[in-house]
Amino acid sequence: MIPISSTSANHNSTPDVINLTQALIAIPSVSSQSNAPITDYLEKLFQINGFEIERLSYVDEAGIDKHSLVAKKGQGRGGIGFFSHTDTVPGQERDWAAFTPTIENGRLLGRGSCDMKGPLAATICAAIAVDTEKLQKPVYIVLAADEEVGFGGALQIHSESKLLGDDWPEVGVVAEPTSLQTVYAHKGGYIFTVTAYGEAAHTSTDRGTSANFLIAPFMAEIAELAKVYKEDKSFQNDEFTPPTNGLNLTMTDYDCAGNVTAALSTCKVNFRSMPAARGEDVKHDIRSRAEKYNLEFTERGSDAFYVDKDAEVVKLSLAATGDVEAITVPYGTEALVYQDKSQLVILGPGDIAYAHTVGEFVPVEELERAVEIYTQMITEHCC
Ligand SMILES: [Zn+2]
Repeated sequence: MIPISSTSANHNSTPDVINLTQALIAIPSVSSQSNAPITDYLEKLFQINGFEIERLSYVDEAGIDKHSLVAKKGQGRGGIGFFSHTDTVPGQERDWAAFTPTIENGRLLGRGSCDMKGPLAATICAAIAVDTEKLQKPVYIVLAADEEVGFGGALQIHSESKLLGDDWPEVGVVAEPTSLQTVYAHKGGYIFTVTAYGEAAHTSTDRGTSANFLIAPFMAEIAELAKVYKEDKSFQNDEFTPPTNGLNLTMTDYDCAGNVTAALSTCKVNFRSMPAARGEDVKHDIRSRAEKYNLEFTERGSDAFYVDKDAEVVKLSLAATGDVEAITVPYGTEALVYQDKSQLVILGPGDIAYAHTVGEFVPVEELERAVEIYTQMITEHCC
């Protein structure tokens, strides 16, 4: 591990974004493990650099402790927030040295380099570099646990953070990798669990009731709906690529044997929600068909992330990157959780196509450029 003293010798020296990214990669924080070590490291870094810090913790379903940080620099209300997560997907260490950061051909490789230890290191470097005396409004760095497995940390920050309290920053950046393009929207997602209960019996007796037969007519109707959604433009939104909602169905009868009637059959129906694409009608279509066949039904999910293309935060981001237009992306982020608190864009170094892969990397040049962009956004909005 790279000692903190070498990345931030004192209050006035900004840590180097490459060193900091490497140090963070070298502290494994796969979602299935506790992220206490990386959180301790970052908490110390914020302390040394004079941030006000709040640490939020919980124990996850597997009994593992998880930690999130809210760090604040500067006084006053509102300000700008940079939102990241500290967990990563598994390292797949059999296939590469995931937790030994290396630099090759202008690429910094390692698990989390792109999603999203590199981006979060860039936000921290930018926030540390800005002169506290010049800040009229605060800068927040928000680091959540468990983004890769259900937003546990972000949800806790959203509901429990006292440091953010009733005064969240007006504008914010979710620093997920976007190749430094400004993202103003992505799809949301819903999942419906539909269950049929039958009665198991050996088929030689003819006494059972197959849960599969009970759920099959529902599945057939969902297959028809999927065709409608793919054809009918009113269920689509051309701002997104692809413009369709990706309705999908998976099912299991828990490996029921061929000579037994299935006691239990479960379908999962997913779709990706978009604004102005009749999401409520889609939900109603699925729900009403489950009810029609007397099937058990649960629903969870969230609407799309969406901010107006002319919003202040979009202008702020475009001014900093020098781009003309903001874009949409097909993947989801923790912007879903925070969007009712702060006006957000998604903007970060690295290409999402290399996130979660063996050989994950972030281009060194983009990492350095990200620090400049974030610094400009802070200066423009807070100084
Ligand atoms: Zn991520």
